Amino acid sequence: MNIVVQKYGGTSVSTEASRGRIADNARKLVEEGKSPVIVVSAMGRNGAPYATDTLIGLYGDSCSVKEERDLDLMMSCGETISAVVLSATIRQMGLEAVALTGYQAGIMTDTAFGNANVLSVKTGRIMRELEAGKVVVVTGFQGMTEFGDITTLGRGGSDTTAAILGEALDASSIEIFTDVDGVMTADPRLVPSARVIDKISYEECYQMAVDGAKVVDHKAVEVARRSGKVLKIKNTFTDAEGTTISLEAEQAPHVMKKRIITAIASKPSVVQFTVDIDYMDPRNESFLNAFEAQEISLDLINFFENQKIFTIDAKRKDKAAGILTDLDVPFAIVEDCCKLTAVGYRIHGVPGVMKRIVLALSKAGIEILQSGDSHTTIACLIRTRAQEKAMRALHAEFGLNEE
Ligand code: ADP
Ligand code: MG
Repeated sequence: MNIVVQKYGGTSVSTEASRGRIADNARKLVEEGKSPVIVVSAMGRNGAPYATDTLIGLYGDSCSVKEERDLDLMMSCGETISAVVLSATIRQMGLEAVALTGYQAGIMTDTAFGNANVLSVKTGRIMRELEAGKVVVVTGFQGMTEFGDITTLGRGGSDTTAAILGEALDASSIEIFTDVDGVMTADPRLVPSARVIDKISYEECYQMAVDGAKVVDHKAVEVARRSGKVLKIKNTFTDAEGTTISLEAEQAPHVMKKRIITAIASKPSVVQFTVDIDYMDPRNESFLNAFEAQEISLDLINFFENQKIFTIDAKRKDKAAGILTDLDVPFAIVEDCCKLTAVGYRIHGVPGVMKRIVLALSKAGIEILQSGDSHTTIACLIRTRAQEKAMRALHAEFGLNEE
């Protein structure tokens, strides 16, 4: 059986016209003798009646005592609605279709509500439906624990569902459809001159996703890499070729040779902490242990003899500040920071890249609060108010505006 997994994001399932396009794509696949498995997100973005954020608001506003388990049950509703509506649209085209929830599709997870990890996929039900000639529509973002509780897979979880099903069903193709023409050199909402990248390595795309490029979820890229499956990112609304995400070795060598920086990503809602504590002080271990217990993860870590500087997600700021205050450790915070990351497979060890970043930002009048690097990235911490300007400055500096 030639199984093709396609995933459609929130804007792609939100109107009758766009659902018609999806159904049309399914029909084409069936005509080519392929078996489509279609993964769907909740309809629309925040504000839309069945969007995930709307559902969270509904639950959050309606009760004071909240249960993680109930929140997951609530959040999973949006995808269920999409799957039912889309399968009806597909049936209207004269095809047979069945809507399956994540758990009906056999996606088993651990009990980390809100950010569950997929442990296994029981593919029996999907295979039976495909063998009966049906187009299978699966809700993204959902799974089930061994105890029968419904879980959700975290932000971007529908992308993960697609990658996981592609792996488990040994699909011939995994395609993620969204509202842009592919993975681009920067978020086109921030950098209008951003261009589509036709081929990118798993590693670069993973880094982009981790550092704020939400076009595809990082877990999905990780699953695809693990299973050796190529991921395609395409636009539901255009016929653009899209982006192929695969091994670095499969990229065109001439492109790889020339390309030092592949893309610029940015992530606002970051807070910088400067903690004044000596490395011999036992409270070092105490605060780091407490951070771990509270799931506060550190980024851009610079630890010196008398001082520890790092960043955390703004959502964790109050918890982190509370821990340090309780331990009576002096600290300072810079709020409203943004992590700006240049991603490139060959970035490590190339002389002069950092110089170009520093000069481009300083020419644009942007202060760098902190920096860090990895094998495939160079990151700078800046103020969020400079986000767009900084993205555009680096995008231009590394020639990403050009063909
Ligand atoms: P979906 O609902 O289809 O999953 P998302 O909103 O999660 O869509 O992702 C698509 C959006 O990602 C685009 O509209 C775009 O603004 C944003 N984006 C951020 N960085 C990039 C990038 N480097 N390339 C393309 N899109 C990006
Ligand atoms: Mg998405």
